[in-house]
Amino acid sequence: MDNQEVDCGGCDTIPQPLLSIDEALEILTSSAKVTNSTQLIELDNTLNRMLAIDIHANISVPSFDNSAMDGYVINLKENQINTSGGFTFKINDRIPAGSIGDTLASGCAARIFTGAPIPKGANTVLMQEECELIENKSKIEVYRPISLGENIRPIGNDIQSGDVILPKGKQLQPQDIALAASVGINKLKVFHKIKVGVFFTGDELAKPGDTLQQGQIFNSNRYSLVALLNKLGCEVINLGNIKDTFNATCDALEALKSDCDLIITTGGVSVGEEDYIKSAIEELGQLNLWRIKIKPGKPFAFGNLGHCAFIGLPGNPVSAIVTFLLFARPFIKKMQGATHYLNTAFKTQANFDWHKPKPRREFVRVRLDHATFPTKANLYPKQGSDVLSSMVWADGLIEIPEKTTVKRGEVLNFYPLNEMLS
Ligand code: AMP
Ligand code: MG
Repeated sequence: MDNQEVDCGGCDTIPQPLLSIDEALEILTSSAKVTNSTQLIELDNTLNRMLAIDIHANISVPSFDNSAMDGYVINLKENQINTSGGFTFKINDRIPAGSIGDTLASGCAARIFTGAPIPKGANTVLMQEECELIENKSKIEVYRPISLGENIRPIGNDIQSGDVILPKGKQLQPQDIALAASVGINKLKVFHKIKVGVFFTGDELAKPGDTLQQGQIFNSNRYSLVALLNKLGCEVINLGNIKDTFNATCDALEALKSDCDLIITTGGVSVGEEDYIKSAIEELGQLNLWRIKIKPGKPFAFGNLGHCAFIGLPGNPVSAIVTFLLFARPFIKKMQGATHYLNTAFKTQANFDWHKPKPRREFVRVRLDHATFPTKANLYPKQGSDVLSSMVWADGLIEIPEKTTVKRGEVLNFYPLNEMLS
């Protein structure tokens, strides 16, 4: 453990080192238990759900050779392949998609449409644009060399019967649902949604819609957190604002713990005299992690109350969202059964200098400028953890390593918000 930044957290015992981001993430993801309950649901309801089993195809797709074009299907003879003669074929059939044509006689062609089965005796499809209709449209003539099998989509071209088409742990997207449908599946087994209880500490919190009294602020974390959880497809139980007392904090935790897989709170997790999250978790359960070497978001707690996991996010609105995205999101995704639960970093060039090395790794709000190559990241001028507008302005977060200065043009890790919010 790197204990460069140490503080005693307002206590009178031995100073505690802050956990590194990597250690914190390791503790969180290794403790995340994948939910073991699954359900079989209609395809239409599976969007964004996590697949609970590998899905195999019971048929090949396509299940028959078919035409890739609107055109004419022919039987190309050995001696005609790739030769440059003008060939003529007599049209004696018409095969729309969904119908079966007759066996193609030698020297003949059939009008065929995209997706229609290739008839017996045929081996090549010609694009209609390349065929000239002659002799009162009773024949086609082609002048270019023709290769065998042109414009035919062979059986199993997309999927072979028995293939795993979708792996367990995949978060289902529209194209995944379509692929399941393409092999005739109408229901999928997915993991149950996890239940997350939330509440918000702070005597200063007022509800949007009410009139602010002196010293009050509106509770914005309630809206970011519920929306973030909805985006992740969690079931949310929301207790709202909770007073800054030890008893009120314990009561809220008790009320949620038996019903929830996870409880998430904001605020009250630091070292002030009005912060009761840490002591309440220690009283009712177990604290496994407290405070991380990150900016914004140092005050962060992780623990459990029996089978129910607990995450305490910081109160500052930017810190709450950033730590949710960096720590709570991978934890929740793993609980939901996702195989890919870690955030992906993209390389981006900094369009700013960072002069002062800081002891904590910093995640700054940036917006990308795509006008030139390579894409450059511009810094929002105010990076305070209370400046919620920075999150609204930003495209993502740039990671500035501990004790590091940055020169304009340096390449750094960038975490796109649209990726982390998907
Ligand atoms: P705390 O961690 O409780 O000391 O809160 C840190 C800062 O975040 C304080 O300025 C709080 O007023 C603010 N804060 C706490 N909870 C919320 C909330 N739910 N919505 C907006 N700001 C909050
Ligand atoms: Mg507070």
